[in-house]
Amino acid sequence: MELMYASTRNAEEKATASQAILKGLAGDGGLFVPTRIPSLDISIEKLAKMSYQETAYEVLKLFLTDFTEEELKNCIDKAYDSKFDTEEIAPLVQADGAYYLELFHGPTIAFKDMALSILPHLLITAARKNQVKNDIVILTATSGDTGKAALAGFADVAGTKIIVFYPKNGVSPIQEKQMVTQKGDNTFVVGIHGNFDQAQTGVKEMFSDQVLAKELDAAGYQFSSANSINIGRLVPQIAYYVYAYAKMYENGVIAQGEKINIAVPTGNFGNILAAFYAKNMGLPVAKLICASNENKVLYDFFTTGVYDKNREFMLTSSPSMDILISSNLERLIYRIAGEDAGKNAELMQSLSTKGSYEITPEMKAQLSDFYGNYASEQETATAIRSLYEKTGYVIDTHTAVASEVYRKYKKDTGDTETKTVIASTASPFKFSRSVMSAIDKKYESMSEFELVDELSKIGNVAVPKAVEELRSAEVLHKTVCEVQEMPQVVKKFLGME
Ligand SMILES: *Cc1c(COP(=O)(O)O)cnc(C)c1O
Repeated sequence: MELMYASTRNAEEKATASQAILKGLAGDGGLFVPTRIPSLDISIEKLAKMSYQETAYEVLKLFLTDFTEEELKNCIDKAYDSKFDTEEIAPLVQADGAYYLELFHGPTIAFKDMALSILPHLLITAARKNQVKNDIVILTATSGDTGKAALAGFADVAGTKIIVFYPKNGVSPIQEKQMVTQKGDNTFVVGIHGNFDQAQTGVKEMFSDQVLAKELDAAGYQFSSANSINIGRLVPQIAYYVYAYAKMYENGVIAQGEKINIAVPTGNFGNILAAFYAKNMGLPVAKLICASNENKVLYDFFTTGVYDKNREFMLTSSPSMDILISSNLERLIYRIAGEDAGKNAELMQSLSTKGSYEITPEMKAQLSDFYGNYASEQETATAIRSLYEKTGYVIDTHTAVASEVYRKYKKDTGDTETKTVIASTASPFKFSRSVMSAIDKKYESMSEFELVDELSKIGNVAVPKAVEELRSAEVLHKTVCEVQEMPQVVKKFLGME
């Protein structure tokens, strides 16, 4: 039976999986959600024997039902290949009693590769299925990692162009260098004078601009999104939680049916939502531990039922989580509102006009799957240092936020028994300055690449290829603009002016 997708803001708007992937955002500004969550229909014994690619197929086929088996397998094989530096694709590493699921072995050494290496192939396949003649223009706002992962995924993919906006002063030096050195004639990278939320709002406005859409169509283009709102990003992310569970079972860490916790360093709420969907597919999961940095809008939400973005925006050492509007939370809100698009739309309207909304007690009661907390900058640094001193294992700043929140979870709840997977979302090499300063202040005077070499030494891990290449890469993108200039910049790049 075909699984359809509905808009979170308009009950009338329905789409097939391929149409939802093509559109990115629903016409009314809502997000596409599956009209039901399919159940995993395969035994844990079978899953335990599967490769990453085979596991991904078992998950994708349930959600993307209008794709053929051949199409899905083709997309999966093109995505999870030697671009990843390990055949396991997402290895599990045990350290200090937790299981770190390393999601950073792809081309840009952060977890967004897990979805963005497959999205271009899903998108091109979806375009073919829906007789789309226009070129697809990927428009993305990034707080650092999405941008590079999307650029790497789409570079030189025929029939696509990709435009990435990032906050000029809101990403790490390595992240910026990764983006501005991106090759490929169809790529365009722009720094904006503003923060990530402004970049994201600018992109969303262009998506819902009907006049612009007509102009694009006339020029042979249409927008799509590579942001984590696209279900083509969300669905592939479910796969690694299933994979992690199966590997833990295979390795004798857990018994059949034993529940695990999953802790996720959270920004836009995409990664943890994928874990929530995995749970709803029947994966035995106890708590979903939602970890925030000092931009703790989600912690406050889980605690009070009030989502309020009216607060100071903090620049932290985990910049990919410096977010005040967690877009994917809307999918959870829609669900706890009883899949009532009208009710959800009202709350989102309140978010856009007042910057806040409050859910009802009935809705709040449905959040018991989640535990929310946050880590301060100091606590994040301490988490990196103490894990390193205890085990020799070096984690990045984002992962450290989750590690610290997991520590708080154990202290708050007394649950030290449930095996816990911590989503490890970036390689420490991507944030070597913050990581090394956390381990020892003596590293503070070193240059970026001295730090990389030192990290390789103390962590006893080779410098990833993605970092090695940056040493000599040429800067190819130098455009910087104001927030309100974003539409003009897009038109100019597409030769529409
Ligand atoms: C994007 C990102 C996150 C946050 O993930 P969401 O899906 O936006 O919640 C966490 N860590 C890293 C390294 C990221 O790049």
